[in-house]
Amino acid sequence: MAGPTLTFLGGVREIGGNKLLVEDGPDRVLFDFGPSFSPQFEQYYVEYLKPRSTSPAKDLLEFGLVPRVEGLYAREALGDADLPYRAPEVHAVFVSHAHADHAGYLDLIDPEIPVHVGSGTRELLRAIETTSPSMRYGEHRWHVFADRTPVRVGRIEVVPYPVDHSIPFAYGFLVRTSEGTVVYTGDFRHHGPRASDTHVFFRAAAAEEPAALVIEGTRAGPDSRRNLTEEGVRREVDRLLAHRPELALACTYPRDVDRLTTLYAAARAADRSLLVSPRTAYLLATVAPLYPEGTVPVPGRSEGLAVYGRKKRRTFLWERPFLDGALSAEEVRDAGTRYLLALDLVHFPELIDLRPPKGAPFIHSMSEPFTEDDVDDRVLHRWLDHFGLAFHQMHASGHAAASELFEIVRSVRPATVYPIHTQHPEAFRDAVPGVRPPELATPYPVGGR
Ligand SMILES: [Zn+2]
Repeated sequence: MAGPTLTFLGGVREIGGNKLLVEDGPDRVLFDFGPSFSPQFEQYYVEYLKPRSTSPAKDLLEFGLVPRVEGLYAREALGDADLPYRAPEVHAVFVSHAHADHAGYLDLIDPEIPVHVGSGTRELLRAIETTSPSMRYGEHRWHVFADRTPVRVGRIEVVPYPVDHSIPFAYGFLVRTSEGTVVYTGDFRHHGPRASDTHVFFRAAAAEEPAALVIEGTRAGPDSRRNLTEEGVRREVDRLLAHRPELALACTYPRDVDRLTTLYAAARAADRSLLVSPRTAYLLATVAPLYPEGTVPVPGRSEGLAVYGRKKRRTFLWERPFLDGALSAEEVRDAGTRYLLALDLVHFPELIDLRPPKGAPFIHSMSEPFTEDDVDDRVLHRWLDHFGLAFHQMHASGHAAASELFEIVRSVRPATVYPIHTQHPEAFRDAVPGVRPPELATPYPVGGR
């Protein structure tokens, strides 16, 4: 194909796993590179059965779980795979945000290929690697881009725009090619604290009169989940804490800084302290300097933020600064009314020591279709039932609702719409013109159909 093309190497009829390749003449740029969250992609590898560390790309290629692209993978990742190692033929990788399904396979990529991320994402990836030994993004030539400042890769120009999402420092991209602009949304919403960023992005997108809009559609299909705005979550947590005098527990996604900030503010308003794990404390300490002063609570500095110290046989170096003054299960149990404890699901055995009074509130502040950290609902409820905790669902999704997605398509007016990161691309076709549900690994011309 002579003109620039778009190829979808992942994220097709699945949530997560976006891998968008834009080619213009000799120049090739890849957007996002992570695993899918859809269950069919877990049929080979699960928690206890992983690709070998000596040849992870080979082991994923075996089942078609990563695309066969020459000149992309690191020699070490390929091992002796039947896809031979070739010097880089992809010239840049851009990562929209630090969620696993967008960044989780970066360690497979040739370290010679520059990886472009926002400065906040760079810090988040570093923090995740420090605190989660199983997460590795690999050695790369990292390039940090600035908001709304173009980056040129040969004929292709990429302009990163910050957007609102359930992890901070998320971006959408305007991708200018020789035959028009491709708009790639990444993941986004506009009912969180950075809604105005999302609006600015889509206004700029419309002004480009884009040839193509590659849009996420996580919630495009039937969506029975109750969704609040971030402010709505705050109001409901406030109401709950005002009426329930005992220890309150909450569970969030680990990198949802907005939600942690909301819970902190609600705890303060109710004269409580928010208790977090050392890992969350480390995350907050990492990202707080990237926000305006006073926006994100800082461990050790912010009044009413403390660390809950689980009993552990050994502590990691990175945890130690946060363990001074950490509260024990006994201390929390004896003065439960003073605390809102953010308890990760993996730490539920703490409940055996915490013994919250019957009827104590458990705020479940998560729930997305197929996200990382999805847990078996039945297991969760079995624990809550055993301890007599009252379940309260209070969540603001990281994704725009179907009607909002369609409204955005209408306002951007692209020539062609490619819905990805969704199991229901046809829902777009029923709602807006110009929709083309993409097929996997098929190049589409940017200019014209
Ligand atoms: Zn995401």
